[in-house]
Amino acid sequence: MNNDRFYSLNNYLKETFGKKVYKVSLDGGFTCPNRDGTISSEGCIFCSDAGSGEFAGSRNKSITEQIEEQLDFIKSKNNDNEVIAYFQNFTNTYADIKYLRKIYFEALSHEKVIGIAIATRPDCVEGEVLELLQEINEKYFLWVELGLQTSNDDIGRIINRGYNTEKYIETANNLKRLNIKFVTHMILSLPNEKKQDLYDTIKLINQVQSWGIKIHMLYILKNSKLEKYYNKELFKIYSEEEYVETVIELIERLDKNIVIHRLTGDPKKEELLIPLWSLNKRKVLNSIHKNLKSKETFQGAKINECNL
Ligand code: SF4
Repeated sequence: MNNDRFYSLNNYLKETFGKKVYKVSLDGGFTCPNRDGTISSEGCIFCSDAGSGEFAGSRNKSITEQIEEQLDFIKSKNNDNEVIAYFQNFTNTYADIKYLRKIYFEALSHEKVIGIAIATRPDCVEGEVLELLQEINEKYFLWVELGLQTSNDDIGRIINRGYNTEKYIETANNLKRLNIKFVTHMILSLPNEKKQDLYDTIKLINQVQSWGIKIHMLYILKNSKLEKYYNKELFKIYSEEEYVETVIELIERLDKNIVIHRLTGDPKKEELLIPLWSLNKRKVLNSIHKNLKSKETFQGAKINECNL
């Protein structure tokens, strides 16, 4: 735990590698079974055209080219620049196993890459994919990211997630058994969401012993399916103050060993309809830090309330 009152990814990486480690976001040219018609052709209701990876490299470039390009950018900030290669856009385990092996190892063979992170869906981590992840995990630094968003299956259906929470639990247990670190994604302000749903989601994340967590606000993008849904249902969208307050309550209920990867998101300004306050990431993060301090609270302070 650091002075920031929660266990941040920066801290974890410094403890593990002895220095600041950056991430380079890659587009491996994937699609998603929830968009290509296999499960649905609609996608999750909040998914962007870029498959929730707005700032990744270009899929028209090779993995090596994308890494080089982003390293050039990082070099201007820090020359001692080892990185985690993050496969971000769409479902990064949803392809032929030979292709997955090729691009994961292409990233791992780059001299500046000290590990890889792979974002995916819980229903796309099975069989030979799991075996490949196990093989990589035995030799390299790896984490896998699972988009849970909520533990409430009714809300899961509204957002067209395309799998149930049981599947998340099964995949989390499989990864845990193989000692593969995994990060769970959670979104706040989903349609029909109650405070108890948020507590239940955190409780589940604690119970499956997720290695990390990413929390962010729901964004309504212009001309998206979510915009249409919002105009019809007008469900509650948090104000900045409500978001900060709720995030603090969740941090207090989160197991202190879980690494917090993010507490805000990265919407593109030109695509975002609401909430516009979320564009000022620095301000939101500062408020979270300031409030944790003024309330004299910290990660796990109310863990017993969560696990009742
Ligand atoms: S699983 Fe990810 S890529 Fe697929 S539709 Fe949902 S958010 Fe988009």
